[in-house]
This record gives sequence, structure tokens and C-alpha cells, in this order.
Amino acid sequence: MKNYKCEVCGTGGARFRSYRKITGMIILSRVENTKPRALCDKHKVSGGMRTITWNLLLGWWGITAFIWNILALIHNLKGGKDVTEAVESEYAKYMGGVKEVMEKQRGIR
Ligand SMILES: [Zn+2]
Repeated sequence: MKNYKCEVCGTGGARFRSYRKITGMIILSRVENTKPRALCDKHKVSGGMRTITWNLLLGWWGITAFIWNILALIHNLKGGKDVTEAVESEYAKYMGGVKEVMEKQRGIR
């Protein structure tokens, strides 16, 4: 596993974290996972503050959203979800895809 640097302080050993974003609307509410950010242990909660603020302002306006928002608040205050493995495997897939395309290109010529 690679050693990632924290986006906030630059400390090594950061993990990619994704937070749950809730948008409550009366009829249609939305749950999204935020784009992963590399964050160290110290910044894993503050790194999600933008999402936490969003949820506190916009996450309450619906019955299901209200419940989701309580769960999301707990989730985000624990530092969100560690998605480092997913990020790494997606990256590997992407790089695999790039290699495949390049090999095809070579084959054509
Ligand atoms: Zn940090």
C-alpha cells in the first residue's frame, strides 16, 4: 500500500475518505458519497466539515432525509468511510485500461 499525504497538513499515512452528503427535498431527497479526499487521522473529521455543514443546512427537509441525515451525521463525525482500497483498485483498473488502449494502438501500427 502506498503512503498518501494528507491534503490538509501533508502528513504521511493518510487514508482516502468519503463523506455522506444528504440533500433533503420534500419530494425527492438525495444521498451522495463525496469525492474521496486523502486525509490523516487528525484531519479526518475536519476534512468532512463542508459536507457536515451542507447536511446541517440542507439535509433535514424531508421525512426520509431527516433520518438519513442523523445517520450521516454520525457517519461523518466518525471521519466518513475509508475508501482507500476502492480508490486503489479503481486506479489500478484505470491504469489497466490505459495499458490496454496503448497496446491496441501499438497493434494497429
Ligand atoms: Zn492532516
